[in-house]
Amino acid sequence: MENKNQGWPDWLPIRADLAGLSPYGAPQISGVVSLNTNENPFALPEKLVADMLRQLPEVLGNLNRYPDRDATELRAALAGYINSQTNSNFQVENIWAANGSNEILQTLMLAFGDRGVLGFVPSYSMHPLIARVVGSKWTSGARSADFSLNVADAMSKIAEIKPGLTFITTPNNPTGTALTIAEIEKLAVATRNIQGLLIVDEAYAEFSDEESAVSLVKNFPNVVVVRTMSKAFAFAGARVGYLIGSKEISEAMLVTRLPYHLSAMTQAIARIAIAHSTELLGEVTILKAERVRISAALTQLGFEVLPSSANFLAFTGFTSHGGDASANWKALLADGVLIRDIGIPGYLRVTVGTPEENTKFLAAVAKLKP
Ligand SMILES: *Cc1c(COP(=O)(O)O)cnc(C)c1O
Repeated sequence: MENKNQGWPDWLPIRADLAGLSPYGAPQISGVVSLNTNENPFALPEKLVADMLRQLPEVLGNLNRYPDRDATELRAALAGYINSQTNSNFQVENIWAANGSNEILQTLMLAFGDRGVLGFVPSYSMHPLIARVVGSKWTSGARSADFSLNVADAMSKIAEIKPGLTFITTPNNPTGTALTIAEIEKLAVATRNIQGLLIVDEAYAEFSDEESAVSLVKNFPNVVVVRTMSKAFAFAGARVGYLIGSKEISEAMLVTRLPYHLSAMTQAIARIAIAHSTELLGEVTILKAERVRISAALTQLGFEVLPSSANFLAFTGFTSHGGDASANWKALLADGVLIRDIGIPGYLRVTVGTPEENTKFLAAVAKLKP
């Protein structure tokens, strides 16, 4: 009976398959330069906040009622945003929305996870965690030594495992590399051949110059693109994620979602934020320019930086603290700069912050390359 509960007390009837899991746990520390969770560093524009405040009395006056269960107006606004960005013609039924794209991922796995879930690591750590929490079998496929995805190998893995869900993150978190649309299409074919879905996690799409996988949805009903307002839209605290896919996907989501999962406040303020998308995407341009500046400065210091199409950079080549990434991460934190220890030996990941924050980061990291 020893260790049956792996650290949980014996009286707690925790599911055996959860006993060994640890919670998601990026540190939240105040009073430091926070460049560890890929948030947009800019607060929402004042005009946008003013528009939200104007809308608030009406929303608050109706909080005795349940919100629109199907978030129809919000989904229509999201469809309009995606159509404007990608020259497509998606309707409300092609969109599903939830509390962050993590909830989208969970709702997808609840609906389609019984034949297992395949992903290619290192990638977003929540994909395997959510799979395990909903009771799906998770399989880790490999990426190449430079963290790129060998598409031919990935296609063989899909044919071998035959998962209901195959996950691709592009640009990939935590490495930053993006797939081309031609590569994603090959994976769409491979997953279609085994009657599986290809879930393309595009949390960082707005920071990338590659074509979005939404262009595949029309010809590949098995392709589902997952997006979030947490990163480009500077909306992480509001919790809004969504998917773009065939209408049958949204219909399945109606079964596995919790009723009234998206609050009336969330729906209202998200619609207003989408109406301000042009201003918010202007900040993305600044962040992309800062990404170039940080990457060049790190290279100049002698670090090796992975190519990134996202709002973060993974880099390696520390010479202080024996080159140990965790020790260097601690040294940066002691210097007031919080970045991410991503668990890849020798590598750390920094989120692109405001120009001032990035300058502070570069001054601190310069000390780790004596
Ligand atoms: C940040 C992130 C998400 C989740 O964000 P939400 O805040 O839940 O919308 C999903 N996928 C990837 C790859 C991410 O990096």
